[in-house]
Amino acid sequence: MYCYCVFLLYLLLVLFYVYYNALLSGSEKWPWKGTIQIKLDAWLSAFEHCNGKSQSPINIDTHKVFSEPRLPPIKLEGYDLTGSHALTLINDGHTLQLSLPSSMRVMSGFDHVYVAAQLHFHWGTKEVPGSEHTIDHVHFPAEIHVVHYNSKYANLSEAASKADGLAVLGGFIGIGLHDNDNYEKILSALTDISIEESDTEIPGFNVRHLLPDSLDRFYRYNGSLTTPPCFQTVSWTLFNDSIRVSRRQLAALEDTLKTEHNKLLSKNFRAPQLLHGRKVLASFHTESTTRSMYSPY
Ligand SMILES: [Zn+2]
Repeated sequence: MYCYCVFLLYLLLVLFYVYYNALLSGSEKWPWKGTIQIKLDAWLSAFEHCNGKSQSPINIDTHKVFSEPRLPPIKLEGYDLTGSHALTLINDGHTLQLSLPSSMRVMSGFDHVYVAAQLHFHWGTKEVPGSEHTIDHVHFPAEIHVVHYNSKYANLSEAASKADGLAVLGGFIGIGLHDNDNYEKILSALTDISIEESDTEIPGFNVRHLLPDSLDRFYRYNGSLTTPPCFQTVSWTLFNDSIRVSRRQLAALEDTLKTEHNKLLSKNFRAPQLLHGRKVLASFHTESTTRSMYSPY
């Protein structure tokens, strides 16, 4: 009986060890390299902020947002980089990221000026739409995040942990009938950076055109980075109007980039988090909006 108990204990220890290492291997940093939910949960629970009560992304329930037409409009400066800067496009193994110059700024809409640092994307697969935020629980095929930091801090890393540190502009990407020429400036370079940890230079262009035509209608809430360390320091702006790319272009985003072990880089989105009493503001009267405006397809 004693031997049996010792053996059982030993077996449990071995199983735990194997399980623990399986949780960590290759996925401790970026969850979507694993495929099962438990890996993601373990990864996130390793970072204390990821269990906080102001996490992102969230679902936006259009019937529960608070209309606040006095929200100051978003005014951008320096977004037109046509003919000026070559921009570095990176496949870092967990997203597609474009480095942005500090001449790009959000001049109004917040209490401070916010300086651009980078933009990146979240996407899924042909079968699984990959936006991080959802509108009435509906995912869009992809989502763009333009990350800015408060100009009172020296740089993004200094600002990231500060309560008023970050402002992210988010846009929903849906499918349209035609190629989007502005997105093509990025997507046409993907084959050059299909391997993890590779980068390339692309000519400067008007980054404003990656966002919806109208920036007037948006949602605003306080949230977090959607990846560890999940600092709850982001003032989120999510534009009501979506962006359209063609099916071919979306497929290029979904099917080209590779992550570790040459696996496809896809489904790099975090599931919506609980609101925990947070208010979501809308810069417009939501009762006048129509369902069709949110349709991702
Ligand atoms: Zn993001």
